[in-house]
Amino acid sequence: MITLALSKGRIFDESLPLLAAAGIEVLDDPERSRKLILATNRADLRVVLVRASDVPTYVSHGGAHLGVAGLDVLLEHDDGLYRPLDLGIARCRLSVATRADFDYASAVRQGSRIRVATKYTQMARRHFAAKGVHVDLIKLYGSMELAPLTGLADAIVDLVSSGGTLAANRLLEVERIMDISARLVVNPAALKIERETLRALIDAFERAVQARA
Ligand code: ATP
Ligand code: MG
Repeated sequence: MITLALSKGRIFDESLPLLAAAGIEVLDDPERSRKLILATNRADLRVVLVRASDVPTYVSHGGAHLGVAGLDVLLEHDDGLYRPLDLGIARCRLSVATRADFDYASAVRQGSRIRVATKYTQMARRHFAAKGVHVDLIKLYGSMELAPLTGLADAIVDLVSSGGTLAANRLLEVERIMDISARLVVNPAALKIERETLRALIDAFERAVQARA
C-alpha cells in the first residue's frame, strides 16, 4: 500500500486534477467527511491528510511514501527529501511587505536594522543575509499582516498570491524574494523498496504536469 500525504485546502484541491490525469480518483471529500485516511480508486494507494507543514515530516520519517508540499514548507524544513517534481500548483510568491509610510529602500540602503515578522524565519534569514541587511526576526505563526500595523515590526515576509490580503491591510509588497509552487516529494528509502510503483506514479504525475503546461 502506497501512502500519499496531502494537506487540506489548496494543495488537496489543486492536486485533484493532477491525480485524475494520472488515473487516480480520491473516493472521499475531505470537506464533508472527517476522515484523515482517504481511499482511492486504486487498492494499492491511499491519501492521508496532514497539516501542510507536516508533509515533509511524514514523508521523511516514512509515515507516507510521498507527498505534496509547497516549496516554502520544504525550504523551511530543510532535510534530504528526494524532490523530483515541480507540480506547478498552489503558486504564490514569498515577499517583503511594509506599511506605505515605511521607506524600505532607504532603510536597506542606509544599513539600518529592520524588524521583520514572519512565519518563514529560515528563508527570511537567508534572504537578508545574502543582501547584507541587518534584521531582527520575530517569529509568528499567523496574521503576519498585523505586525507592521501594530508596531511589532517594520516589515513582514509572507506568501502573496493575489495581493488581496496585503491590500486589505494597506500593506505594500516592496520586494519579491522568490516564486513558490508545490512539489512532489518522495521518501528516498521508499523509492528503493517500492521502486516500480513509485516510479510509475512519479512518471504519471510528470506527464500530467507536462500536459497542463
Ligand atoms: P495551515 O493553514 O494548516 O496553518 P498553511 O497555511 O501552510 O497551513 P495552506 O494555507 O493550505 O496551509 O497553504 C498550503 C500551501 O499553499 C502553502 O505552503 C503555499 O505553498 C501555498 N500557497 C499558495 N498561495 C498561498 C497564499 N496566498 N497564502 C498561503 N499559502 C499559499
Ligand atoms: Mg493557511
